[in-house]
Amino acid sequence: MNQRDSEHMIAELNETEPYELCEDYKEADLIIINTCSVRERPVHKLFSELGGFNKHKKPSARIGVAGCTASHLGKEIIERAPYVNFVLGARNVSKIAQVVNKDKAVEIDIDYDESEFAFKDFRNSPFKAYINISIGCDKSCTFCIVPKTRGDEISIPPELIVGEVKKVVATGVKEVFLLGQNVNNYGRRFTSEKEKVNFTELLRLISAVEGLERIRFTSPHPFHMDDEFIEEFARNPKICKSMHMPLQSGSSEILKMMKRGYTKEWFLNRAQKLRDEVPGVSISTDIIVAFPGESDADFEESLDVMRQVRFEQVFSFKYSPRPETEAEHMTEVDGEIASERLAYLQNMQNEIIDEITPQYLNTIQSVYFEELRPDGFISGRANNNILVKIKGSEELLGTIQDVKIIKTGRMTQIGELLG
Ligand code: SAH
Repeated sequence: MNQRDSEHMIAELNETEPYELCEDYKEADLIIINTCSVRERPVHKLFSELGGFNKHKKPSARIGVAGCTASHLGKEIIERAPYVNFVLGARNVSKIAQVVNKDKAVEIDIDYDESEFAFKDFRNSPFKAYINISIGCDKSCTFCIVPKTRGDEISIPPELIVGEVKKVVATGVKEVFLLGQNVNNYGRRFTSEKEKVNFTELLRLISAVEGLERIRFTSPHPFHMDDEFIEEFARNPKICKSMHMPLQSGSSEILKMMKRGYTKEWFLNRAQKLRDEVPGVSISTDIIVAFPGESDADFEESLDVMRQVRFEQVFSFKYSPRPETEAEHMTEVDGEIASERLAYLQNMQNEIIDEITPQYLNTIQSVYFEELRPDGFISGRANNNILVKIKGSEELLGTIQDVKIIKTGRMTQIGELLG
């Protein structure tokens, strides 16, 4: 989502400002740092990076801070780093041209409605297009700062999304990546009166676009994974068979304290339905360890879900208290215990991965090649999102090929072209 926000800012600036992208910030006339604030560490990192930029930048260069940390710290950023010229919240990136030449401008209105112009034209990749389908988040997870930095959830009208898909496909893009905090909550609220279209219906509309070959999306919320959605996911050949299911915790008690809206049993039931109905599906997840109040037994429940589902990928984080969240003042788990749990969980997941990946050996994967590597390989994603590289050159970029896996690894599978 942040990558797309960065593309959006570049697109807006391209319309009115004389800037070009450059590789080295020491040469830049304008430096914009797009930030995250989901955990505390990136916030600290912002201030240390800012110091470095200020020291080595061209004296006349301007510095802006955008994104979620901008939303939540606002003018405090300029108080702590007075050389920052402007601050632009995550829900205000379309206003970049209005602040870029001002001094000490702070634009962080989280009620601002960007939902009808998220599609300005600049894309980093000629092969894959990130497309917002909603902005903001209506959930109230007690650990999470996102609703405070991105505001209420508003869906982007379906005809605008389909129009954008058609537009990018006409430029040669084969894969679209739909973005929203809870994509499968799509359609609950539009800015103006709209005919109700839910996420499943939106997927059908998008997949009807001729020339489009692949659809991915993130993140779906486990609470909204109804049968209709899973069945469309299983049936629709354009939808790539990898599903992100952010678990957060395997303990139903902790899930309740997190206000996630589902139980361990519901999550396991949904994961099993996916495994049953979608052969070859890969399932990834996010897990928070040491949420306040998490006991050894609660932690064990998270491990139990991992053993049962055998996720193809797990993004795991130590709980980080965030300002203005309900959990902020709850009693934290001891730091050492939290670190031990995280290490244990990550080791266990590595063992699971080391059992999963050898099964790819000699399978045929359909790979969309997107990246030329300096080592004579090109790489891309298989339908189920595994990263595959083969010896090959530029002319394969932007094509989908059948590849036989000849060597497996934890992160990357090596293959050769069929035929
Ligand atoms: N909308 C997505 C979450 C996006 S944030 C969802 O509902 O699942 C990405 C991930 O960051 C979350 O899934 C969660 O695992 C992690 N995260 C969010 N807040 C956190 C916090 N306070 N401490 C640690 N990890 C956190």
